[in-house]
Amino acid sequence: MCLPENCCHESVNLKTMHELSLAMEVVDLALNELNTKQLKSVLELEVEVGDLSGVEYETFQTAMEMAVKGTLMENTTVILNRVHGLGKCSNCGEEFKMEHRVSLCPVCKGFPGEILSGTEFRIVSLLVE
Ligand SMILES: [Zn+2]
Repeated sequence: MCLPENCCHESVNLKTMHELSLAMEVVDLALNELNTKQLKSVLELEVEVGDLSGVEYETFQTAMEMAVKGTLMENTTVILNRVHGLGKCSNCGEEFKMEHRVSLCPVCKGFPGEILSGTEFRIVSLLVE
């Protein structure tokens, strides 16, 4: 048994925990919707995951699979849309792909004064019946 407080893989576990708790929140939200509308199943759930949102796409994908297990959403089609980070240089105005929040302009090494996309993390659609 590997307790979170003294685990040798602490950083890895904590990271997964973050994505997992988010995934469980998403599942909860969808199931609530189902309850409120007194419907039977969630057909499809679509979530947007930005590269700069602090949620790791692959980890979240795994977390979603774990989160739906044993729930009414076990057979739901889960669509995850990965949104790449895009920043605009505050110095030269170049628009460039950002892999991290600390990415710099490839032309002049300036800071991205503006982040155009990639920070989103949201449910974009939920199909129930
Ligand atoms: Zn620049």
